[in-house]
Amino acid sequence: MNKIVYLDNNATTKTDNGVLEEMLKYFGEEYGNASSQYTLGMNARETIENARSKIAGILNCMPKEIFFTGCGTESDNIAIAGTARRYKNKGNHIITSAIEHHAVLETVKRLGKEGFEWSIANVKENGIVDLDHLKSLIKPTTVIISVMYANNETGAIQPIHEISTICREKGIYFHTDAVQAAGKLTLNTKELGVDMMTLSGHKFHAPKGIGILFKRNGVNVVPLTYGGHHEQSVRPGTENVPYIAGIAKALEIAVNDMEKHVAHIAPLKEKLKRRILSEIEKSTLNTPDESVCNTLNVSFSGLEGESMLLSLDEYGIEVSTGSACSSGSLEPSHVILAMGRDHLTAHGSIRFSLSKYTTEEEIDYTVDRLKEVIERIRRISPYK
Ligand code: PLP
Repeated sequence: MNKIVYLDNNATTKTDNGVLEEMLKYFGEEYGNASSQYTLGMNARETIENARSKIAGILNCMPKEIFFTGCGTESDNIAIAGTARRYKNKGNHIITSAIEHHAVLETVKRLGKEGFEWSIANVKENGIVDLDHLKSLIKPTTVIISVMYANNETGAIQPIHEISTICREKGIYFHTDAVQAAGKLTLNTKELGVDMMTLSGHKFHAPKGIGILFKRNGVNVVPLTYGGHHEQSVRPGTENVPYIAGIAKALEIAVNDMEKHVAHIAPLKEKLKRRILSEIEKSTLNTPDESVCNTLNVSFSGLEGESMLLSLDEYGIEVSTGSACSSGSLEPSHVILAMGRDHLTAHGSIRFSLSKYTTEEEIDYTVDRLKEVIERIRRISPYK
């Protein structure tokens, strides 16, 4: 097999051809600025508002509750820092979980430097937030809780509905980072009961550099940047019309075809899991049963994730050893450590993340090559 076997779809995804096609005309003849008063500008405005309405329909909210941003990181920052700063007179305490993406954890730490207090909810061994611990952290001053919907490293699905119920009872704002949930789980904001929700286009076959923030009407934020009145001044800056059209199309495909895609991907993940656990010695699962259909995280005892990653790359197989943002550093994954695994186990973890484009042949090829790679590394490893 001479092609790339791409199993790193939690890092980013291939832009869907239908999405690319949808965007092209906004790089071509329809290049207007949506703030301009003439036809070209009004066309751009119409494109943006149509995209917003389409997304609002999918998320079961009002169009004015949808904000376009530059990425998931930016949506997380606006939601958490924006809310905390806006309501700091109400309370200065923030709660998040130990397995969040750095886009959330670093934002919370930054707020700590501004005088906010923060607490981190533990996860259980299976990587799912410990609700009793989370509840015990709530104080009268807690103003916002941010817990992700699906974890990017293990795929573990978090009890969002339960957390939103707790938040509503206590009058606390609730944000969820749903970046890894799009196309895999329901995004119905009313059913989930969330006040704010983050999505990122490049995780569901739109391009990189476009994000969505759902912000319930009535929740106010201090913006991160200042400028014109774009996006209700929550996110000023000339709107990226092609990418906005693209993310709306991508979300429509992801949600409309979700059942079909899950039915394709889930059995492939099951096969990958079954073959690895039965054919490769000393392999242990870091992904619980309650996980999104595309993510499988496995630790191979005594091995370095980095060396497996590089060896697999020689065969054209692309996987990850943690979140993309932290690979390059040799720090073990904070997510795997938070689940109570030791440093060696965390170091030996590999994340496989599948997509609608993954084939059974690719899964078999991956396991066959992985067996060779591990056998070779174990033969020369001092740890065994
Ligand atoms: N949140 C999660 C759970 C992610 O997996 C990622 C990206 O890996 C982000 C946030 C950041 O999104 P973006 O790359 O669009 O900034």
